[in-house]
Amino acid sequence: LNFNKAEFIRSASGRDSFLRDQQPQFAFAGRSNVGKSSVINRLVGRKNLCYVGNTPGKTNQINYFQIDGKAYLVDLPGYGYAKVSKTERERWGKLMDNYFQDDQGLISLGVLIVDIRHKPTADDITMHNWFRETGCPEIIVANKLDKLKKSQIELALELITNTLELTDEDRLIPFSAEKGIGKEDLIKAITYVHEN
Ligand code: GDP
Repeated sequence: LNFNKAEFIRSASGRDSFLRDQQPQFAFAGRSNVGKSSVINRLVGRKNLCYVGNTPGKTNQINYFQIDGKAYLVDLPGYGYAKVSKTERERWGKLMDNYFQDDQGLISLGVLIVDIRHKPTADDITMHNWFRETGCPEIIVANKLDKLKKSQIELALELITNTLELTDEDRLIPFSAEKGIGKEDLIKAITYVHEN
């Protein structure tokens, strides 16, 4: 898969506009501000495929990007932003429900992005469980690695592993969208899932 060949396809705010053409879907999820847009941009080697610093909570839609004409990178709307209204939160929940429950089994891989500095939140755990329930493989990206001292990394990864109850089958990749650390590991992990 050539991640440098990425193209925006469309946004969906409900099940009517979901893509269902049988190409594998790699779903990216994470708390608002965790750096999801930055991770995606880093992955595809572009500055602005995803809009960084998007007003948190204003992104109540799913964005589809096609990778190399062969698979979709699905940018799920960020969650956990405190200032979002109840209505918005409910709309988000319904959209996620619809996407995860779509009877055509759209997801072939979940990529959960968490902040390496913090214990995963209750929302992160919920999202993680949704991925688990679909039975798809999952990759955890621990972003903002550049914000930790070397001596803090091991404990931070342990906290994430324990909180999310990761098993040997889950991949945990320390990452820095800012510095580009972990990019090759993430591409390798996604490609492995794609080919197996
Ligand atoms: P999103 O809301 O999850 O899409 O997050 P964004 O990609 O918009 O990033 C939120 C903020 O975190 C921005 O100010 C980014 O520049 C910053 N950011 C993202 N990734 C990293 C990273 O790896 N390291 C550092 N230091 N900052 C990051």
